[in-house]
Amino acid sequence: MTTVSNKPSISVTAKKPENSLCVYHVVYEPTFKSIIFHHWTECNLKCRGCYCRREKIDFSLLPDWQVRLSTNPPESPPEVLLSLSETLKLIEGLAIDRAIFIGVEPTLDPGLPRLAHELKSRYGSYNILFTNAVSLPDISDIDEIIVSLKAVTPELYHQYTEGENRKTLENFRRIYDSGKKLQAEITLIPGVIDAAEIEEAAKFISSINKDIPLRITGFIKLSGMEFRAPTGEEVETAARLAMEHLKTVNYLSGDMPRVGEPPVRLF
Ligand code: SF4
Repeated sequence: MTTVSNKPSISVTAKKPENSLCVYHVVYEPTFKSIIFHHWTECNLKCRGCYCRREKIDFSLLPDWQVRLSTNPPESPPEVLLSLSETLKLIEGLAIDRAIFIGVEPTLDPGLPRLAHELKSRYGSYNILFTNAVSLPDISDIDEIIVSLKAVTPELYHQYTEGENRKTLENFRRIYDSGKKLQAEITLIPGVIDAAEIEEAAKFISSINKDIPLRITGFIKLSGMEFRAPTGEEVETAARLAMEHLKTVNYLSGDMPRVGEPPVRLF
């Protein structure tokens, strides 16, 4: 566990609070005036390569996060969830330009729309939601949505998540039609979600609009799992195929250098 700094003393309710919110971890990035909320819910998918249940701490706080992912057993649920009032008190006085909602499916947190609303009205923040888009709550106070597509071929999606992707693909279109800024994300997992499937995802996205950006993430090996991480060359091949259909394709490697001041764990 990384050093915990700047941790304010607040009173925390041990069970799910009345002013319902499922936030278990909060990180602040001073350089970007960004606040990151990690939510914990009963996810509506069971992804075979789920990182969220392997590591509860924000990766930005962990210099050795790749090693931890490859060695950690699955994590148990957090013992404490912050209420909305506790969360707002925790961040009082901070300069916040950007709020990010991530973790174990934030859209299933009944308090998400209210938290986004409070951030927008108190700080004028630009609110970004990471989601699997199986279900969509009220997104009035969300500015940008990054949808993790997993796969677009129904059988493959089902094999990987145990779910059906009809709703995700419909919601992806709905978000686009809403005029919100939209990005897609997909993880390349050799032998599971290969470059050919990533090209299918790019075709699906381009059928809506070629300008929607796609981010390809290389899978990081998890402990006890047979899937391996892709090589840099495999990620580049997938990106090249996707670029035949989309104007903007980014890809991430695990070796991205940290920029700016170190992030601070608030809770
Ligand atoms: S959607 Fe996200 S949180 Fe849910 S199982 Fe998949 S990776 Fe894990």
